[in-house]
Amino acid sequence: MENTALIAIGSNIGNRYDNMMNAIKILTGTPNIRLVKCSSIYETDPVGYEEQDLFLNMVIEVNTALNAMELLDRCLETELDLGRKREIRWGPRTIDLDILTFNQENIETEKLIVPHPRMLERAFVMIPLHEIKSDLRISAMEKPLDALINELPDKEGVRIWKRRNGEDVFAPIES
Ligand code: ATP
Ligand code: CA
Ligand code: CA
Repeated sequence: MENTALIAIGSNIGNRYDNMMNAIKILTGTPNIRLVKCSSIYETDPVGYEEQDLFLNMVIEVNTALNAMELLDRCLETELDLGRKREIRWGPRTIDLDILTFNQENIETEKLIVPHPRMLERAFVMIPLHEIKSDLRISAMEKPLDALINELPDKEGVRIWKRRNGEDVFAPIES
């Protein structure tokens, strides 16, 4: 389990909470991916394509023996398991799993770009990320995470929905 990845999770169709918890269970239910930390769950206004329902978003940290491409494949399989369909770009989805970072690696292939190229401009990613990794630095960042978040225009669209349970950061949040 030598690799560490941060993964952003989002859902805005059906039972959004169940979708997110099921995604965590499927993804980390395999022996080669271990859940390390979960952020609180946030309810967020849609960004990019606004004619859709509110999202739930969170960020998790995992340890894994998989390489980045294998982890991406597991994420895409998990999305399909939960009925994800791709119709409108940035449109409604039962579940979305984006790899934000994989160790300190910079990866740029046709299927996978890490760090995730749009993460820094998205308050719905950066706010939960800050909660579990406030000291994160990636090469594209010119400022610390809290300074970047301060400057994001849509941060008011990100509100705590279910707070992480105290120090118990290793378990997904219970309903
Ligand atoms: P965005 O990437 O802007 O958040 P999205 O999540 O809606 O948009 P998807 O339709 O879920 O986009 O993904 C399209 C493709 O993006 C995936 O099939 C995958 O190959 C590719 N991809 C590239 N980099 C990543 C990454 N870091 N994490 C997840 N998918 C990625
Ligand atoms: Ca996404
Ligand atoms: Ca995605």
